[in-house]
Amino acid sequence: MRVSKMFFQTLREVPAEAEIASHQLMLRAGLMRKLASGIYSFLPLGYRVFRKIEQIVREEMDRAGAQELIMSALLPAEAYQASGRWEVFGAEMFRLKDRGGREFCLGPTHEEIFTDTVKSVTRSYRSLPLTLYQIQTKYRDERRPRFGVMRSREFVMKDAYSFDRDEAGLDISYKNMYDAYCRIFDRLGLDYIIVDADTGAMGGSGSQEFTVKSSIGESVIAYCEACGYAANDEKAECIVQKGCGEEKCEELNLEKVATPDARTIDELMNFFGCSAKEFAKTLIYKADDKVVAAMVRGDRELNETKLQNILGCIELEMADSETVEKVTGAAVGFAGPIGLKIDVIVDSEVAEMKNFVVGANETGYHYKNVNINRDFKATIVKDIRTIKEGDPCPKCGAPVKVEFGIEVGHIFKLGTKYSKALNCVYLDENGKENPMIMGCYGIGINRSMAAVIEQNNDENGIIWPIAIAPYHVIVIPVNTTDSVQMELAEKIYSELMAKGVEVMLDDRDERPGVKFKDADLIGIPIRITVGKKANEGIVEYKRRKEKDFTVISAEQAIEMAKREVEEGCAVK
Ligand code: ATP
Ligand code: MG
Repeated sequence: MRVSKMFFQTLREVPAEAEIASHQLMLRAGLMRKLASGIYSFLPLGYRVFRKIEQIVREEMDRAGAQELIMSALLPAEAYQASGRWEVFGAEMFRLKDRGGREFCLGPTHEEIFTDTVKSVTRSYRSLPLTLYQIQTKYRDERRPRFGVMRSREFVMKDAYSFDRDEAGLDISYKNMYDAYCRIFDRLGLDYIIVDADTGAMGGSGSQEFTVKSSIGESVIAYCEACGYAANDEKAECIVQKGCGEEKCEELNLEKVATPDARTIDELMNFFGCSAKEFAKTLIYKADDKVVAAMVRGDRELNETKLQNILGCIELEMADSETVEKVTGAAVGFAGPIGLKIDVIVDSEVAEMKNFVVGANETGYHYKNVNINRDFKATIVKDIRTIKEGDPCPKCGAPVKVEFGIEVGHIFKLGTKYSKALNCVYLDENGKENPMIMGCYGIGINRSMAAVIEQNNDENGIIWPIAIAPYHVIVIPVNTTDSVQMELAEKIYSELMAKGVEVMLDDRDERPGVKFKDADLIGIPIRITVGKKANEGIVEYKRRKEKDFTVISAEQAIEMAKREVEEGCAVK
């Protein structure tokens, strides 16, 4: 490609709305353009990368025996109504009506549609196992679209669905996808970690996320360097350390204390002169139509996913102050478990505490020396807190590490959730109907692209791995008015193309500094500069990821580039 003819633009300034490296660089390098919040177009350079990622995903899905098809993005409501997700998706689903008033959505994910399709085609156990996939556009009206294509409202997902006769079959299909995902993310050059994930209130027997460690990631992952355990914070189980400090084991008398100006944990710590660990927070939640209380230690975070799973509710949100006042009889900040008429879900750690402080359900008062069972009863005692750095690993007890990550892929054992709801059955050897056992497997193509940039950039721009670079090589003649330089540059350009290497020729009449800057910004892995020594057939050969260049003959440069591209694109 001749740069003079290319439809692209690079920006020197960092676009104001872009907070993270990948978003800034995708805009600055002219890979994409914003149309509206969470909606982007890919420009030619960006689309080349996008297609390469898509192709790697496709090759590995095909290699794993999955069959590609494509479904519409505009979907009738019925299948989602049958599974209950027409409601569950809530505001995240883009909904619309046709001229006849019939309801449709723009598909956020396609479990229902695949289930419905397989149901109409596959009847016999002989046709199973089966894995189907598509690489297709999804729509989600995210509460907070941000970070460019990392969390957008329109994005492309590779979504695959497996159909098996039994759990043992599902285990094999799942492992098959797991292995394919490892090959995909290896080929994309990503450094990732596979973490156990929550399967949600609706069931499912296992789920894992492929996560790229990154400080800007929105997933929180806990992992143990001692035993290799890794899970996201929705899933990571918290272990209770039994017993209490010896001097505090004896139950003291319950006391009501006037705490007029103390509502928050910080204010209470000041007032009582003790640590947050000696308080238990009572949080009031709305779970669908029910109001419940949930208790965690003063220094802990309540984990809403864990609580939601225990309650089996669809919607869970903190109650508004009006509701809090109604159920506790006190202003916000004074809720406590004693005398509450609603269910109280108590974190397993709180159940081990002695003589702690809680709100008194009376404005301006707290209780101290509170003890569970003696002073109040828990409806349920369970782990409902979020794991923290240093907490014991649920597998081996060593302190865990906690870091942020970007979820790029997700594999999930669904079981019969959708096949039962949509009656997707097969006939076994005895002619008996059974629901198919399903799995689903997603990869975000756009998000993976952004994640690669997050992990591969420097102050000058993107550093693409060869396998997905928009072009492999850029040839830069320093002076385009010098016919010797131009001739050699053209020769290298055409010879590389003839060898199957993807090349850009920066034939623009620009200062060399501008060309070098652009080449670095867009992250082309190999740069061949043709300058004053063109008359001797000598060029500079530089890799984007290295600082120094080497001075070699044009022939050597061509050979070296060809070899490196072959190695970089090789499929192991
Ligand atoms: P998240 O927790 O980040 O919202 P999710 O659990 O909703 O993700 P899945 O429904 O499992 O995601 O979707 C599969 C894959 O699709 C994700 O692993 C991610 O790569 C991608 N993905 C999901 N939502 C978005 C989005 N809004 N923008 C870009 N990619 C997305
Ligand atoms: Mg989501």
